[in-house]
Amino acid sequence: MKIKVLKDVLKANDTIAEENRTILRKKGILTLNLMSSPGAGKTLILEKTVERLKKDFKIGVIEGDVSTSNDARRLARYDIPVIQINTDSIGGACHLDANMVKEALGSLNLSSIQILFIENIGNLICPAGFDLGEDKKIIVLSLTEGEDKPVKYPVAFRKADLLLVNKLDLLNHLDIDLELLLKNSRKVNPDLKSIQLSARTGEGIDKWAQWIKKNLDLKKRRSGALGS
Ligand code: MG
Ligand code: ZN
Repeated sequence: MKIKVLKDVLKANDTIAEENRTILRKKGILTLNLMSSPGAGKTLILEKTVERLKKDFKIGVIEGDVSTSNDARRLARYDIPVIQINTDSIGGACHLDANMVKEALGSLNLSSIQILFIENIGNLICPAGFDLGEDKKIIVLSLTEGEDKPVKYPVAFRKADLLLVNKLDLLNHLDIDLELLLKNSRKVNPDLKSIQLSARTGEGIDKWAQWIKKNLDLKKRRSGALGS
């Protein structure tokens, strides 16, 4: 019975995720779901990304954390719409689900957003199991976490469309084998593209910004072809 309950929960989640996806498609919003363990640097990456893209694109952010609105405050400084989801009062869930995102979408003016970032709750395991209605899943892994994480926590890497390897500025200070890390990520997901960057120094942010622009273009062209 336990298994059935879990299946029902995931099925209900998938239904709402599809509703989210339909809404976001109609508005032509590129939605990116960022997943990582705590402290990998998602928020700083977003700060640098918003800094880079905000003059050309309208950006919104949904922030997921168990508690506090620290990260939402950091992003709100860029004068963009930011919604903070805290799960502490609803059982302290360690991942975002489609229903939470649906609620957040309801509080955003979607007509004034072209790129929506969802910063998932820091956790390398269950965020990967919950479709939110996003276009792409981005997995962030920092060099301080070690090269074996893709093989230890394969699901998130398997489901991801892009790997951002963060904290590149620390490469020469750590006993980390970057080639092995990339090899491990390809072992669980041979198609996984990766971009190496340092949110701290800004190195690689351009390449990541290009990836976002390319995917926004693709989405526009595709929804144009669908006539919506
Ligand atoms: Mg954060
Ligand atoms: Zn969870």
